[in-house]
Amino acid sequence: MLQSLVHYGLHFIVPIVIAYIFYRPKWIKISLILLATMAVDIDHLLSQPIYDATRCSIGYHLLHQPLAIICYAILFLFPRARVISIGLLLHMLTDKIDCLWMGG
Ligand SMILES: [Zn+2]
Repeated sequence: MLQSLVHYGLHFIVPIVIAYIFYRPKWIKISLILLATMAVDIDHLLSQPIYDATRCSIGYHLLHQPLAIICYAILFLFPRARVISIGLLLHMLTDKIDCLWMGG
């Protein structure tokens, strides 16, 4: 319970905080873009079961592979894609924290 609270807290609150700190004038728009990157979790639909709280997403799901994460990091180099890159990396970090929490 506490774990899912932390997980969704990080998924929702951290993007908004980052947007507010680094993109103050347009933080609402940036927050929405960061939250939209949560859509990468759509790859969970390819797995059975779709959601398993004890499973580590990193390295398991298609869009959570180390190779995909490297691509997200490369996106950071392009100003237009930077916000999306931040959102995706943040998402991976949150999922990774989850894995560590589970001892995986
Ligand atoms: Zn995820």
